[in-house]
Amino acid sequence: MILTVTLNAALDITYRVPALTPHASHRVTEVTERPGGKGLNVARVLAALGHDVTVTGFAGGDTGRTLRDHLAPEPRITDALAPVAGATRRTLAVVDAATGDTTQLNEPGPAVTPAEWTAFLGAYEELVHREGLAAVALCGSLPPGVPVGAYAQLIRAARAARVPVLLDTSGEPLRRGVAARPDIVKPNADELAELTGSHEPAQATRDARRRGAHAVVASLGADGLLAVTADGGWRARPPKRVRGNPTGAGDSAVAGLLSGLAERLPWPDRLARAVALSAATVVAPVAGEFDPSTYSDLLPRVAVTGQVTAA
Ligand code: ATP
Ligand code: MG
Ligand code: MG
Repeated sequence: MILTVTLNAALDITYRVPALTPHASHRVTEVTERPGGKGLNVARVLAALGHDVTVTGFAGGDTGRTLRDHLAPEPRITDALAPVAGATRRTLAVVDAATGDTTQLNEPGPAVTPAEWTAFLGAYEELVHREGLAAVALCGSLPPGVPVGAYAQLIRAARAARVPVLLDTSGEPLRRGVAARPDIVKPNADELAELTGSHEPAQATRDARRRGAHAVVASLGADGLLAVTADGGWRARPPKRVRGNPTGAGDSAVAGLLSGLAERLPWPDRLARAVALSAATVVAPVAGEFDPSTYSDLLPRVAVTGQVTAA
C-alpha cells in the first residue's frame, strides 16, 4: 500500500468550449468533474498501475463531499481524508477544443485551523504505522493555516515509522522539507532553481542533495529526469518530445517513481517508468491522466544513462 497526502485537495472541473475568446460568451460542450490536487493525481495513476493507495489530506463542505463521492467507487483507492470546516477548493480548466490549449483557474482553498491540523497529524501518525505501507508521498502546496514546516514534520514522522517518503512541493515548504531528510524529492526545474539559486540542473541537483534529501529526481520538462541518489546518478530521457498538456506530468513521474520503489525496482527502471508515464500523461486529453498505449510504447524506448557524480 502507498499513502499519498494532498493537504490542498481540490475538485477539478473541466469545461470544454469550441473556441475560447476573451470578452465573448461561450457554450460549454462538455463538463467533467473529478478529485484533484497533486497527491490525488498521483493516487489515480498508481491505482491504474495496480497499486492499492490510501489518500489523505483535507476535504470539507459540499465540494469536499462531492470529491469523496467520486473516490468511493474507485476500486484501489481508500479515502482517509480528514475533515476541515471550510469547503474544498475548486479548480476550473477551460479547454479550447480548437487549439487544445487550457486556461486554468485555481481557488486558494479553505484555511485549516490549528485544531484541524493537530487532528490530521494524529490520523497521519496512525496511517504511517500501518502494516504493509511501502511509501508515503507528500504532494503540492500547503493550504492557508497549515504551518510552513508541515512537510518537514510529516517527513520526520514517516522516517520515525521507517517508511520511505517522497516530497513534491515548492518554495519554503520544499526548503524546510528537504532539510528534514526525505528519501526522495522531485522538484521541477523552477522549483530546483528556487531552492538552490542555480539554473544549472546537474549542479542544482547535487546541491539539493547536500541540503538533506537522500535522492533528488529533478524533472526537466521534455528533457526528462535527472537523478542523483546514494546508488549513483542517471539521466532518463523520453524518446521524443510529445505534444499536449504537461499539467500533471510531474505527478505521473512521482507515481512512476513510487510504483518502482514499492516493487523494489532498481533506480534506472524506476526512472524509465516515470519518464514513459509522464510523457503518456502529456498526450492524454484529460490533464493528470495517462494514455496506456503510449505508456507501453514508450517504456522500452526511454534512454537511461548513468553518469559519475561528485557527491
Ligand atoms: P506538474 O504540472 O505535474 O507539477 P512538473 O512541472 O512538476 O509537472 P515537468 O518537469 O514539467 O514536471 O514534467 C515531468 C516529466 O514529464 C518530465 O520529467 C518528462 O519526463 C515528462 N515530460 C514533460 N513534458 C514532456 C514532453 N513535452 N514530452 C515528453 N515528456 C515530457
Ligand atoms: Mg512543468
Ligand atoms: Mg510538479
